Amino acid sequence: MAKIKCSVCSCAHNVAEKNECDLNAIQVCPCKNCKTGTPEDETCCSSYTETRH
Ligand code: SF4
Repeated sequence: MAKIKCSVCSCAHNVAEKNECDLNAIQVCPCKNCKTGTPEDETCCSSYTETRH
């Protein structure tokens, strides 16, 4: 199974010490109303879940 590498530490699915996501699969979507071509502007993980501290 492929691993999902992710460094979004504010997400509840993120395992920061491994730089990984704990899900088996995620959904990535294009960000709305963005045409800059810059990766951090264009893509978005739809599986993101805010961490509640
Ligand atoms: S759900 Fe998305 S943002 Fe959250 S850890 Fe997984 S890949 Fe990263």
